[in-house]
Amino acid sequence: MKENFTTKIRELKTEINIDDKLYLNRWKPDHQSHLEIIDPKVCEAKCSGKDCTIFCPARVYEWRDGRIAVGYEGCLECGACRIGCPHQNIRWRYPRGGYGVQFRLA
Ligand code: SF4
Ligand code: SF4
Repeated sequence: MKENFTTKIRELKTEINIDDKLYLNRWKPDHQSHLEIIDPKVCEAKCSGKDCTIFCPARVYEWRDGRIAVGYEGCLECGACRIGCPHQNIRWRYPRGGYGVQFRLA
């Protein structure tokens, strides 16, 4: 089931040029992150797939220098990481009021 989900996301990314869609949006980043890795050791020791680096449409999560880097400023607030992390290791909240993404359709 999880493998099918990840495979489908990979297929969608090749069918849709997400970068073309994202350039319309604007962000007002907060100075504090609304996303938190609960236990970085779980990412390192128990998570071979690093799924968050695949399912996040905004590429917020990046495996860098042996740890997950979280570029929360670009978050699209889709909520996928609430359910996508196989170890429930991401604490997700909306950004504080007035901060975050502002979607524009055209
Ligand atoms: S999917 Fe979850 S456990 Fe795996 S690297 Fe990302 S945050 Fe860590
Ligand atoms: S809410 Fe969506 S865009 Fe934001 S970090 Fe999670 S998966 Fe990425």
